Amino acid sequence: MDRHREGNIMSDTRRIALVTGASRGIGRAIALGLAQRGFDLALNDIAAQASALADTAAEARAHGAGVQELLADVSDRDAVRRMLGDALAEHGAIHALVNNAGILRAASVETCPEDYWDSVMDVNAKGTFLVVQAVLPIMKAQGYGRICNISSIGGKHGAPEQAHYSASKAAVMGFTRVLAQEVGPFGITANCVCPGIILTDMGRVNLDDMAVRKAWQDKTAAARIGDPQDVVGPVAFFCSDDSAFVTGQSLNVDGGIVLS
Ligand code: NAP
Repeated sequence: MDRHREGNIMSDTRRIALVTGASRGIGRAIALGLAQRGFDLALNDIAAQASALADTAAEARAHGAGVQELLADVSDRDAVRRMLGDALAEHGAIHALVNNAGILRAASVETCPEDYWDSVMDVNAKGTFLVVQAVLPIMKAQGYGRICNISSIGGKHGAPEQAHYSASKAAVMGFTRVLAQEVGPFGITANCVCPGIILTDMGRVNLDDMAVRKAWQDKTAAARIGDPQDVVGPVAFFCSDDSAFVTGQSLNVDGGIVLS
């Protein structure tokens, strides 16, 4: 059996990961965690986050990683194509893709403006699709790939004022289940990580109110709110050869809110 059918790449291969939305929050923690685990990085965020992305990149370089900064809106097909072209030109390969970029604009179903629905779907669901579509020819040519899509427990259960966000994250899980079936024969796995309540700028939408924060904390088996660092290990697992026979899965990383 050749090495790709075993689902592994040679141990002396320098691994390259593309992480979207990597300037801050969970994406930043993932970028630094992968740098610490020996990955070189292509780090993406939107142009408005260029300075924060540069900070993340500098910290990743301090961990010894070769880092490329890529400013692109993941919901823009042409920008995504250019980004993947630039990443391949720089690194020569992309072994792991972490689709982390996401937005949350809270509103009840009754009051949700159409542009909230569209923008949340565009970034969270279509953005994931576009980056995956652009990376697949690269991973198929390699006969190897690890795709980790950041969904959310919000896509399984959700909370009031987040129906459109929940729909976008459920879409990511459905997309990933079928993607896994299509790409498995090419040595590529595709999985989701579903964070729970994580203290980031986005997480503060749920957590600014201390009573709400306490209520979420009480819902976790771990009796605490999550930190971006809590998401890193599971993502690194899905980006590694340790997960070669795990695909199409959606793993809750929530301290025990959704129990399954
Ligand atoms: P965050 O702090 O808001 O970071 C997300 C990053 O993605 C930001 O830098 C954001 O830039 C960027 N981004 C937004 N739209 C983009 C686009 N079109 N193209 C490229 N980058 C874009 O959020 P986070 O809490 O770290 O969340 C990261 C991921 O985890 C998201 O997919 C989120 O849905 C998911 N998640 C988070 C939680 C939580 O509790 N925090 C729970 C479950 C799932 P701007 O801020 O400038 O838009």
